[in-house]
Amino acid sequence: MTNSSQENNTNENNTNTKTKAGEHLSKIMKEFYINQHLDAQAGKFCVWAAIIVPLEILRGFDIIVGIPENYSAMTASKGLGSAQCERSHQLGFSPDLCSYARIDLGNNLYPPKDAQMPPLPRPDLIITDNNNCSLLAKWFDVYHREYNIPHFILDVPFCYNPQDYDGLNYILSQYKDIIRKIENMTGQKYDIDKTREAMNNTNEALKHWKRFMNAALHKPAGITAFDSFVQMATFVTLRGTPQIVEQYKLLADETEVRIAEKIFPVPDEKYRLLWDNIAPWHQLRKMSSRLKQLDANIVYATYTSCLGTIEGGIDLYEYDGVDPLKHLARTQNFSVCPYGLELRYEVIEKLVDRCGIDGMVFANNKSCKVYSLMQLDIQKRLIDKLKIPSIMIDVDHADVTRYSEEGVFIRIEALLEQIDRYKNVC
Ligand code: SF4
Repeated sequence: MTNSSQENNTNENNTNTKTKAGEHLSKIMKEFYINQHLDAQAGKFCVWAAIIVPLEILRGFDIIVGIPENYSAMTASKGLGSAQCERSHQLGFSPDLCSYARIDLGNNLYPPKDAQMPPLPRPDLIITDNNNCSLLAKWFDVYHREYNIPHFILDVPFCYNPQDYDGLNYILSQYKDIIRKIENMTGQKYDIDKTREAMNNTNEALKHWKRFMNAALHKPAGITAFDSFVQMATFVTLRGTPQIVEQYKLLADETEVRIAEKIFPVPDEKYRLLWDNIAPWHQLRKMSSRLKQLDANIVYATYTSCLGTIEGGIDLYEYDGVDPLKHLARTQNFSVCPYGLELRYEVIEKLVDRCGIDGMVFANNKSCKVYSLMQLDIQKRLIDKLKIPSIMIDVDHADVTRYSEEGVFIRIEALLEQIDRYKNVC
């Protein structure tokens, strides 16, 4: 799972100028990447973390935190993904692997001489998790061997039902192992007050995030799902910092003002759609502008609905200010990928109802099998139970060579016709 582009984003108003939140996002993401390199030059310890690893724990140390999945998504959004995938093929990695992994491996193990985006600073430690998929751990194991550094894999029980007491304690005990590991490797003493402060920042930021996402409920919607894809970059890289609070407050405030001023991304919105799967990073601008021409808006996405929730939820699961590690363990399973079928369907049913959805776009993601696996079952249930029309399109979140724009839009237009027929009958 993950996130976003700063340059090719859709955070524009109707005059095609970047919004303040879009500009601010570009600024903080640029600073984030530059500062990592400056800190690395100064000799700081560097951890590479998978996006679901609780960054708030890592904020309890003075270290660099690099997020390779975000780096891959950014590479894809700048149109460089396929070239990097190709470099990983030349190294012998299979084209069937997730394109995030292929981009990242190509970037790091076979960097182009004229790299437009320098690779992340070399890590001293890698921390991943198996909530989402097992490929992730195998991908980072390559660096574990190549760089001869430790790789901590957070083992998270699968999520068919609400988390139980044993599951929570199992996760908590591993957080304590992570803390010990970093203490031993850096010689630093972990500061839980910094994690508490980071958790407060994340909680505050997520309240603004939910306010921003609620703009999708307005008719016409005040945002598109593409806006939420772009803005996720802050969540995956800067969780726990004051910058995420500032960014999401600006985003929510600006979005509410635009609704009050009747500025809508799809002013003549006729079709309200829901998206299931990771964003197609290479298509954000193209896809949103073609949809706008059809008066169609993908208003919400399962991918961005889950931030700050617990399993099966849409609303914020608030931090009570007491025990940040316990709260992080309770929310460790917030992302959609680890859900079982029932939870996956439950979320979609809630979103269809809450957002007034007319039709659904299931993106069968060639890279992310775990997100795509249950889509056919969910699609069938959706039509049987709610009579909501839907389509299945083929995408790859980061490798544009596995995407056919015309093929996808033929299906989208067929979906809109189907919605018209449903509306005429009902
Ligand atoms: S396969 Fe899916 S969950 Fe696994 S790393 Fe790729 S995008 Fe993430």
